[in-house]
This record gives sequence, structure tokens and C-alpha cells, in this order.
Amino acid sequence: MESTDGFFNEYGGKYVAEVLRRPLDELEKAFSFYMKDADFLEELRIIQRDYIGRETPLYFAPTATKLLGGAQIYIKLEGLANTGAHKINNAIGQCVLAKKMGKTRIIAETGAGQHGLATAAACAKLGLECIVYMGEIDVRRQQPNVAAMELYGAKVCAVTSGSRTLKDAVNEAMRDWAANFENTHYVLGSALGPAPFPDIVREFQSVIGNEVKRQCEERGIKIGAMVACVGGGSNSIGFFNPFIDQKEPRLIGAEAGGIGLGIGENACRMTGDAAREGIMQGYKSCFLLDEDGQALPTRSISAGLDYCGIGPQLAALGKSGRIEFTAILDEEALNAVRFFAKNEGILFALESAHAGAAAMKIAREIPCDQAVIINMSGRGDKDVFITSPVFRPEEWNRFLHAEIERLECNKDIHDAKIMTK
Ligand SMILES: *Cc1c(COP(=O)(O)O)cnc(C)c1O
Repeated sequence: MESTDGFFNEYGGKYVAEVLRRPLDELEKAFSFYMKDADFLEELRIIQRDYIGRETPLYFAPTATKLLGGAQIYIKLEGLANTGAHKINNAIGQCVLAKKMGKTRIIAETGAGQHGLATAAACAKLGLECIVYMGEIDVRRQQPNVAAMELYGAKVCAVTSGSRTLKDAVNEAMRDWAANFENTHYVLGSALGPAPFPDIVREFQSVIGNEVKRQCEERGIKIGAMVACVGGGSNSIGFFNPFIDQKEPRLIGAEAGGIGLGIGENACRMTGDAAREGIMQGYKSCFLLDEDGQALPTRSISAGLDYCGIGPQLAALGKSGRIEFTAILDEEALNAVRFFAKNEGILFALESAHAGAAAMKIAREIPCDQAVIINMSGRGDKDVFITSPVFRPEEWNRFLHAEIERLECNKDIHDAKIMTK
């Protein structure tokens, strides 16, 4: 489903300062041209196959199916994509497009660092200069991703304005783009922001849903329900896209229920009481806002779902009833991580575990000759700093202290070496 003039019913649009009109219009034209260009599509297909590692498997989960006692459980293993999550689909798509448009410089915003990491990898692969804007607070708490981005050759710019987090990184990226669009493309990370970004991100992520559709047809799988986690909405809209215009299957979006229903305790834009319609960062959608229209604080154990806005198409599809939304608590997501690791040997990212948990809840509502397909948007290696303190607090604490000791000890040796030189 394409937007109409950038709108999905009443949501979406292009609410930006005049200076951003030109780059957005130019992008829109280039995108609609190249999505019909055979050379572009072939180049993208080869990179998806050889660099990203597509297609990703659709895995039948036998033990989970037996234990949950209802639908057949299938897992789309997006976490096997190079760099560990679905975000590379969009980053590669936009970077190849940018190159075709003659851009040599790429900028991106990142919160937890996953989108920045995917964009940095895509730029390294394609030989593009890469600058990632990241709130200063996020830079400090997401060091493993910052280190990876720098390894890929990206420059990470710490943003010191406002709350020094994702929102401010987006503003900084927009400012840079407005000043430098002649040679620069802004790779936006989710299916939101001003038009045409929601359409672009959905199309590049639809490779997930298109593969699922083909894989199910080839294997004669009847889909009862599809479940995905929803941060900004890119993995879910790409996963759902080929099925949106049909009445079936059930499409279920799992939001971050955090620690409860109170303000500041979750990131529920569709299921909670604090959700309001509003316009922020260039688009109209549902947001967690206070009385004055200011963004409310959000909370989730998964950094990727911890955001106050949701893509306009998902908001529209939620309102029309085509997509059901459900809130999953931190606790339930952690249980799902343990459940699929132990029973299937698959380690879900905390974000994706929200989808896993939602599937666990509805498996019995679906007949046993039908499938529930979970989109595992990413794998959980990246979450060891979050999950270990919960699952094994004392051992983890001892490990970290030992690591600091090791570091300081090595520093002595290093310093001694320098002094003897
Ligand atoms: C970023 C991220 C998400 C959330 O983003 P969407 O745009 O909603 O897909 C979900 N899962 C993983 C693994 C992520 O890195």
C-alpha cells in the first residue's frame, strides 16, 4: 500500500521547514524512478544475496509448537542477516539509491546504535563517507555499537543539544541534510519521518514479507497470524506489507509494555492511555505526548522499541483495525528470550522477543493446522549487557570487575613497555 501524496489516511505527510522540501522532492523522484529501473533492482538483489545473506530462513520451531499447544510456530530468522538485524535491508537499499543519485556522503541518526551500525556497514561496503549523529548520552551507554561503527570507518558525532538522545540526533541530521543535500543523502532508520521516507523504508524492508509469502507458498504453509515487534515500525511494516490488502492472516504488532501502564513506564503508542495524535519530526502520527504536546519519557528493556512515535502507516492500519496491537512487558520479553533459546537454540534480540512473547500468548487461539509466524528482527548477542545482569547478576558483576582489573593490569604492562623504549 503506497501513501497518497505522502498520507496514509490522516497520518503521515511532510511537515518540514522549506529548506528540506527540495531534498525530499528530489529523493521522491529518484526513488520512484529507480524502483522501476532493472539495473538498480538487479544490483540490489545481488547485494542482498551475497552481502546481506538473503534469503533468510523460515524456521519451523517443533518444540515451541509442542509446548505452546496450538498453531505451528515458525520463525523468520532476520537476525541471520549480516550485521545481525533487519536494519541492513533499509540501509543498503538507501545507500545504493544514494549512490545512483550521485551522492558521496551519507548521514544517519541513531539511538541505540543499531541503525547507525547498519548504515556504517553499508557505507563501508559501498565506499561512501558516513557520519552518524548520536545523542551524547547514547554514545556513552552504547559503546559496543560506537566501537563497531568506528571500525566500519564511520564518524560518530555526539549531539549535545536538548535531551542528548535520539530526538536530538534526528534534528541534527535534518539540519546537516538541509545544508548539504547537494552531495549528501540522509538515511532515515525506520518507517517514519516526513514523506517519502515511510514509503521508501517499507519498500526496502518488504523483502522480508515477500520472502515469507514465497516460502509459505512453496511449502504449503497456511498462515493464521504474523507477529512482529514495533518500534518505529520498519521490520513490522516490511514483514506485513504483502498481506495488508487482504483480510487474512491476522497481523499483530507487539509494542513495548515496559514495566507497567503508568506514564514513563512503557512505549505504547497504540495500546496505552497516554497516546495522542500529533505532529513531530516531520510527520503526523500517534505519539506519547503530554498536555503541551511535548514528547513524554518512554521506557523499555529493549532500546530499539523505546521510542515515543510510530510510523504513520502502522498508525493508520491500527486505527482501521487491520493490524492488532498488543503490549508486552519487559518481564514477558525476557521469558521469551529464555524460552526460544532453551527450546529452539535461537537467541532473540530483546526487541524481537516482544514478538515471540506475543506469539506465545496467541498460539492457542490459532488452529493447529495453521502457522503463527514470528519475525525475529534481530539476534540477541548485542543484548548481553542487558540480559546478563538480569539472568546472572552476581556472575556478571564479578566478570565486569575482573575485566576492569585485566584492563588496568594490561595498562601497566603497556605503560612499562613505552617507558623502556
Ligand atoms: C531497531 C530494531 C527494532 C525496532 O525498529 P523497527 O523500525 O520498529 O523495526 C526491532 N528489532 C531490532 C532487532 C532492532 O534493531
